[in-house]
Amino acid sequence: MFTKSPIESKVLNEKIKNIKPNLQRITILPTLVCNLRCKFCHVWGTNGWALKGVKKINEQLNIDSLKDFINEANKNNKFDIVLSGGEPLLYNSLQELIEFLYSKNIKINILTNGLKLIDHASFLTDHACFISISIDGSAQVHDNIRNKQNLFDTVCNGIEEIIELKSKKSKPFPVIQINYVISEYNYNNISEFIVSIRNRFASLKVNIKFKQDFISRPKDLILTFEPLLFTTKARGEDYADIMLEHLNCKVTETWESFIKDEIKIDSKAVAEVLKREWDNAKINYSDNVDIIEYFENISNVFGRTRCISPWQKLVIGPNGSSYFCPDLPDYSVGNINNNSFEEIWVGKPAEHFRRIMKERLFPVCNRCCSLFSNFNIEQVKE
Ligand code: SF4
Ligand code: SF4
Repeated sequence: MFTKSPIESKVLNEKIKNIKPNLQRITILPTLVCNLRCKFCHVWGTNGWALKGVKKINEQLNIDSLKDFINEANKNNKFDIVLSGGEPLLYNSLQELIEFLYSKNIKINILTNGLKLIDHASFLTDHACFISISIDGSAQVHDNIRNKQNLFDTVCNGIEEIIELKSKKSKPFPVIQINYVISEYNYNNISEFIVSIRNRFASLKVNIKFKQDFISRPKDLILTFEPLLFTTKARGEDYADIMLEHLNCKVTETWESFIKDEIKIDSKAVAEVLKREWDNAKINYSDNVDIIEYFENISNVFGRTRCISPWQKLVIGPNGSSYFCPDLPDYSVGNINNNSFEEIWVGKPAEHFRRIMKERLFPVCNRCCSLFSNFNIEQVKE
């Protein structure tokens, strides 16, 4: 992430006035089940909601409903798919889903913790377009954050296997990205992490980038850095009030797992290290989001005074519920088990949500991944 900063809020506000729904991406969370317990995870972590007695955490998305929904969506839209979770490689209809999407020529992006990567390496090499794997530090740091011994090695073995398969088949895809989420647990490990990845993959070209990048050769490995998402208690409470008042929506406790009233990160040190690494990688970062501001001044949205996600993207959760905000499944615009694509994408609930979003951001939007996504920003600039 750390996206290009300047967006003219005037341009954005004008664009939003006349924007029409134009589906670009469906993010599917086929299951929230996970084989890790990462400390910072908003689902399974120390503050996560899964361990607070929330029921139905074992749900798996109904594959037949999903296929019907995708078939309908695919009639008049060109979109890609992101498979996330939980851990998407634990979805019980994974192979069937991926083969189905592949047969429809839909680009498949997978976000995984990598623990099961080696088991699926051959299949994913044949079908996926892009795989983003979370590694949040050099071996000891990563294993500690994600509460699993030898995880770093296991994940790297999976990556290595896919890269070898790509090489054998002379395939540029799937593009392999390692994504590092900067948090209080690893903010001082960035340089060591880069060295450890370069050492572990000495025969590869390790490219440090800002974002997902589809220009890649078989032996390229992309490293990206993403700051932790967060909000404050006061912002979360305001969000709950606004949702009730404007959308008649009683929110879940999900937002509470993002509360960070104090950011225990030396943001100046992070900024210095990243600038050094970007200089070394000859990356022009002059107009990127200011990292220090990002962490220390949550009010600053860097000109992003509206979110265009609800016009571009849809999220489908494990129970079929569909919504617009990837980390906040509060306002459902329908359920793929009961509603058609049209009813969900341009039905009354969706239109009501978009009407509200034309006028404002929610207080929790300020550090939401969608607000800073390069994907969204490129759409704004078109
Ligand atoms: S791998 Fe992802 S979903 Fe699983 S516990 Fe870690 S952060 Fe949460
Ligand atoms: S920025 Fe706000 S409206 Fe947009 S996806 Fe995030 S929480 Fe939802």
